[in-house]
Amino acid sequence: MQNFDLIIIGAGRASNIAAKAGKLGKKVALIEKSTLGGTCPNRGCVPSKLLIGYAQKIREIKESKKHFIRAIIDDIDQEEIFKRTNEYIYSVEENYKKKLNDNVTIFKGEGSFLDNKIVKVNNTKLTAPKIIIATGTRPTKVPFENAWTSDDIFPLIKEIPDSITIVGGGFIACELANFFDAIGVETTQLVRGDTLLENEDEEISEIFKEQYCKNVNVKFNISIKNALYKNNSFEIELDNDETYKNDALLFAIGRASNADTLKLENTNIKLNEKGFIKRDEFFQTDVEGVYVVGDASGEHMLQHAAAFEMNHLFKMLFEDEKEPLKFKYMPHAVFSHPEVASVGLTEKKAKEQNIKYVTSTTSWLASAKAQALKIKYPRTKFILNPDTYEILGCHLIGYESATMIHQVLAIMHLQNDIRNLKEMLYIHPALSEALLPAAVQAVKAIHEYKESKKI
Ligand SMILES: Cc1cc2nc3c(=O)[nH]c(=O)nc-3n(C[C@H](O)[C@H](O)[C@H](O)COP(=O)(O)OP(=O)(O)OC[C@H]3O[C@@H](n4cnc5c(N)ncnc54)[C@H](O)[C@@H]3O)c2cc1C
Repeated sequence: MQNFDLIIIGAGRASNIAAKAGKLGKKVALIEKSTLGGTCPNRGCVPSKLLIGYAQKIREIKESKKHFIRAIIDDIDQEEIFKRTNEYIYSVEENYKKKLNDNVTIFKGEGSFLDNKIVKVNNTKLTAPKIIIATGTRPTKVPFENAWTSDDIFPLIKEIPDSITIVGGGFIACELANFFDAIGVETTQLVRGDTLLENEDEEISEIFKEQYCKNVNVKFNISIKNALYKNNSFEIELDNDETYKNDALLFAIGRASNADTLKLENTNIKLNEKGFIKRDEFFQTDVEGVYVVGDASGEHMLQHAAAFEMNHLFKMLFEDEKEPLKFKYMPHAVFSHPEVASVGLTEKKAKEQNIKYVTSTTSWLASAKAQALKIKYPRTKFILNPDTYEILGCHLIGYESATMIHQVLAIMHLQNDIRNLKEMLYIHPALSEALLPAAVQAVKAIHEYKESKKI
């Protein structure tokens, strides 16, 4: 049995905890069954956003006629795009190793529990007073042989398909389908329902759908009955009996918990109904000293959420932090075309939760920089508490939405009152200035509401 101060199972974002604890002189065991760095740099956020960079440039060139420029794309070097993206992915393991130090012992293999405090990896038994489970998630299993998930395409496949079908309507599907379509792969996206990005505010997802479908061929209310891989291509049969051939088939239909790899039946750790590990507000599982953070908790499934949680857990374990992490507002973005960013409640959620709210939706076009983009759809939608002026939700669609939302986030984190966004100084006519009329309009909507209720 090997003794450590800390055992970490899963070297995704938790590698940072290992590095920091090691620096403090703690003896750390870091167990990873795949590549150090986890999903985000190897097969998630980073490579997918590197691809989006190419897609965005291509879209801008294709849409340049709005600026009275006639441009023809002569060639897209797909192989170079794939090669450059793969170069980044191949550097991840080494870069993560460099971040670690001599106090961190890396165990390559699948970690599982023998009991509440003993972890086994390969044939080695380890124990520590503190154990962190940071095992993330994996793509939901694909129903057809030879079909891919996002895990299978990073590092990027050697053979670039001429045609691809992507199943799913969530953010991963919409980011990847936008990329493949933009670089010239004939792309078909299949969606079970009639919406894209169904977790977004309805008003925003409707605008998204309208704009996105101008580029990507999406079939709604459809699923695959059968997909047979024969002679290097798929024969796809849809549930409306339509059949067609495509070189590749990729499923982006959700993520599943990795908790089933941990042999938790040997412990008192409990799972929730979705198979994710239960925890309290201090990230602690049902076993004292065993914590779960990041995607493994099934709560946010975002890299910045995982990072935020892990920083806090580190402070709780090795510094003087006594308070639980309270992040009321978890933002996210969809880096597709168009770009979407969102934080807090959607209107539907506010309704479901029976919360008193006022909404206000404003176009960005009062801003000269927004006008210069020559796109009409960008919008800001606020969901507000009319009694306190609190921003309950903010939803943006338009160029650089993920960047734009940060000024709203700052207000929400510091002193959440829409009037602060209205009173602050904006550089004229920066794109961010589009949020000024949105804030003015939002305050007006609250006053009109109060007036109508005679408050
Ligand atoms: C295509 C894609 C795009 C994404 N884009 C974004 C984005 O734009 N923005 C964003 O915020 N988030 C994005 N995400 C989500 C983001 O990648 C995750 O939220 C983040 O990686 C979670 O970090 P984590 O450390 O909790 O888990 P992970 O990074 O998944 O790390 C878990 C690690 O545990 C290992 N492991 C699992 N079980 C065991 C075991 N039993 N023993 C040993 N090791 C084990 C795994 O191999 C993995 O390395 C994206 C995800 C995908 C798939």
